[in-house]
Amino acid sequence: MKQTHRCWAEINLHALRHNLLWIRQRAGHGVKVMTVVKADAYGHGLKPIAAWLMQNGTDLFGVANLEEARAIRRVGPGWPILMLGACLPHEVDLALRDHVMPTISSIEEAACFARAARRRNVTCRVHVKVDTGMGRLGVPHAAAVDLVSRMTRLKGVEVEGLYTHFASAEDNPGFTRLQRERFQKVRKGLHTARIPIPLVHASHSAGLLHEPDGTCNLVRPGLLVYGIAPPGWRVAAAGLEDQLEPALSFHCRVALVKGIRKGAPLSYGGTFVAPRKMRIATITCGYGDGYLRSGSNRAHVLIRGERCAVVGRITMDQSLVDVSALRSVSPGDETVLIGRQGSNCISANDLAEWCGTVPWEIFTSISYRVPRIYRGSHAA
Ligand SMILES: *Cc1c(COP(=O)(O)O)cnc(C)c1O
Repeated sequence: MKQTHRCWAEINLHALRHNLLWIRQRAGHGVKVMTVVKADAYGHGLKPIAAWLMQNGTDLFGVANLEEARAIRRVGPGWPILMLGACLPHEVDLALRDHVMPTISSIEEAACFARAARRRNVTCRVHVKVDTGMGRLGVPHAAAVDLVSRMTRLKGVEVEGLYTHFASAEDNPGFTRLQRERFQKVRKGLHTARIPIPLVHASHSAGLLHEPDGTCNLVRPGLLVYGIAPPGWRVAAAGLEDQLEPALSFHCRVALVKGIRKGAPLSYGGTFVAPRKMRIATITCGYGDGYLRSGSNRAHVLIRGERCAVVGRITMDQSLVDVSALRSVSPGDETVLIGRQGSNCISANDLAEWCGTVPWEIFTSISYRVPRIYRGSHAA
């Protein structure tokens, strides 16, 4: 089947299951796992991935918006879903209709949900977000206890969860500790006010990797589910990230091979000039597929198991690689952009570094033009 593709992504479902089990173990007994599947499950394909994670024991889903929630609803009508983004005023009714738990950062948002819920004669379960230093969503930490107490008096909403988000867990232990302390203070305040909160969570992937924590009862990993450790200078405790299995690989093919003379400029702008006689392969992917243009003259690919450098600008549909060192290469040869070939491997983190970005952006850039092919399950 894959012989027919020019540029495709393969997703190994066994790897996802392995990573989910690993996360479960790392999080510890009695801690629930919310798998974050926003942005089309980090480019892996929302519906099949959500279905597979349900089968393999995720407890909740985290999404960015209601459209993503609705896609999950079609696969798992009753599954708990938390919307991590803020609900816009005109989306409140839809969130209630689809039983999506909203993230609440202010009394206005809470009141809006309470009113809509009363109109429907239901109670809406919500998670309150506390801003402990990320500066994005969330009630300022110093005002959090007050917000939650006021919400307990609002008919129509019920605070099911309390959470915060780390800004630099992969880089900055000191700031992360400060965020944790602020969050702990809010929890203490709620405890003193005798307001019990069923679910308390803070850790995304970097939190789970670098800051194992025994005080929360839910974790919210995204990147780790897909088998990638967040890059950062904090080296994860020896070998931890090697225990993950990257689920996605990204492939294309050699379309043409030709010799060029010394001094020949390559691709738009002639940013690469051949320093010697070379053999160059044109491959069937470009930034229109999500192979980022910033990897021009920096990225590498695997062909016949060997690393080959991308030379010249990456274009919309095609890129050029130096295959001078290969003994043989022909049109149709599989080219690996992310993944393993022979004994060599290019990780999403490698590609991200070459492109001056992060693996999250590498995954979510892989475009609609790239078919996702699922392996490792008959169900998918
Ligand atoms: C995206 C997101 C996550 C998951 O982040 P990873 O770094 O991919 O694990 C967790 N929590 C919130 C609020 C998010 O927006």
